[in-house]
Amino acid sequence: MLRLPRFRYLRPKTAREAAHMAAELGPRAMFVAGGTDLFPKLKRRQFDVEALIGLDFLPREIRHGSGVCVVGAGVTLAAAHGDAHLHDRFTGYAEAAGLVSSPPLRNVGTVGGNLCVDTRCNYYDMTYEWRKAAGFCMKKDGDICLVAPSSPRCWAVSSSDTAPMAIALDGVVSLAGPDGDRELPVAALYSDDGIDYMAKQANELVTSLTLSADPKTRTAYVKLRRRGSIDFPIAGAAVALQLDGDEVLHCRIVLSAVASHPLEATAAEEFLKGKRVNEDTIRETADIAAKPAKPLDNADLSHFWRKRMVRVVVEQSLARATTRTAGSTVKLSGRNRE
Ligand SMILES: Cc1cc2nc3c(=O)[nH]c(=O)nc-3n(C[C@H](O)[C@H](O)[C@H](O)COP(=O)(O)OP(=O)(O)OC[C@H]3O[C@@H](n4cnc5c(N)ncnc54)[C@H](O)[C@@H]3O)c2cc1C
Ligand code: SF4
Repeated sequence: MLRLPRFRYLRPKTAREAAHMAAELGPRAMFVAGGTDLFPKLKRRQFDVEALIGLDFLPREIRHGSGVCVVGAGVTLAAAHGDAHLHDRFTGYAEAAGLVSSPPLRNVGTVGGNLCVDTRCNYYDMTYEWRKAAGFCMKKDGDICLVAPSSPRCWAVSSSDTAPMAIALDGVVSLAGPDGDRELPVAALYSDDGIDYMAKQANELVTSLTLSADPKTRTAYVKLRRRGSIDFPIAGAAVALQLDGDEVLHCRIVLSAVASHPLEATAAEEFLKGKRVNEDTIRETADIAAKPAKPLDNADLSHFWRKRMVRVVVEQSLARATTRTAGSTVKLSGRNRE
C-alpha cells in the first residue's frame, strides 16, 4: 500500500492568508482543495512538499446573473454537474464537470482544482519505484524526456475536462495573490509546457470562475477515454456555437488531452464562422480542427489512433451542440475502434 509522506497541514481562513503562506513557503508548499489528484501524486512521490495549504474556505456557491454564472472555486464537480441553471445555460460545462473521473471523486474534487490539475504522462504518473527502475524524467527527479529524448521540453498532457469548456465559454478566473486580486481569461491561464503548465504565479489561487454566454450560444463537450466510469480524457472537444437559425455567428472549439495546454482549434473556428451548419460543414470543420493535435505516445491507447479520433470527437461535439441533445462519452466500439 502506498502511504502519504509526512507534511504539515496549514488552514488559512482567507484567500489572502493562503497566498501569503504560499509566497513565504515557495516550492516547499502546495495548495490542496479536494485532494483527489494531489494525494495520489504525493503517495507516488511526484511532489516533495513540507506543507499543504488547505483551501476549504473557498466559496462553494454558484451565482447566476443575466448571461453570466459565477462558480466558486470550492464548488464540487458533482454540484456543478447537478446545477439546473448551469445545465440549462452552460450545458457543455455541466456536461464536462459530470465526465470527470468517477462519482466519489466528483463529490470531493473542485472546480478550482480541476482548472489547476497537473499535466499527465505515462512515464510520470507512476510510483517512485517504477520511475526509478525506468529512469527518471525531467518532470520529476531526472533530466531527459523519455517520450521525446531529444526534446528540451516536457510534453506531459493537459488532462482537465472542464478547462477546454471554460475557454470555449469565454471563462474568466479570479485569482488571489499575496498583494491583491486580479482576473485572467481561462485561455491565458495555461502555458504550453508540461512542467510549467500554469501561467499564473505559483502563490496565486483561483477563487472563482465566471462563465458568460449569449442566449443563442449552444455548447457541448465530448470526451474519449478507455473506461467511461473513471478515466482521464485521451481526447476531447469542447464546442460553443452562436447560431442564428443554422448560420454560425461565432464559434469556439477547444481540444483536451492532445497538448500540454487546452488547444484552441482557431483555423477550424474561422472556417465555420458565417457558414450554415450541416453534415458537410461539420465534417470539414472537424478535419481542420484535428490538424493541430499532435498527441505523443505518453497517454492511454495508441497515439496514432488518438490523433484519428480527434476528428471524431470534434464532429460529435459540433453535432451535439447544434442539436443540443444530451449525451456523454464516445463509445469505443464499432467503426471508431478500427
Ligand atoms: C482515478 C482518477 C481519475 C481522474 N479522472 C479525471 C478526469 O477524467 N478528468 C479530470 O479532469 N481529472 C481527473 N482526475 C483528477 C482530479 O480528480 C480532478 O481533476 C479534480 O477536479 C481535481 O480537483 P481537486 O479539488 O481534488 O484538486 P486537488 O487534488 O486538491 O489539486 C489539484 C492541483 O490543483 C491545485 N489547486 C487546487 N485548487 C486550487 C485553487 N483553487 N487554486 C490554485 N491551485 C489549486 C493543487 O495545488 C494541485 O496542484 C482523476 C483523478 C483520479 C485519481
Ligand atoms: S513528456 Fe517526457 S519529460 Fe514530460 S513527463 Fe513525460 S517523459 Fe517526463
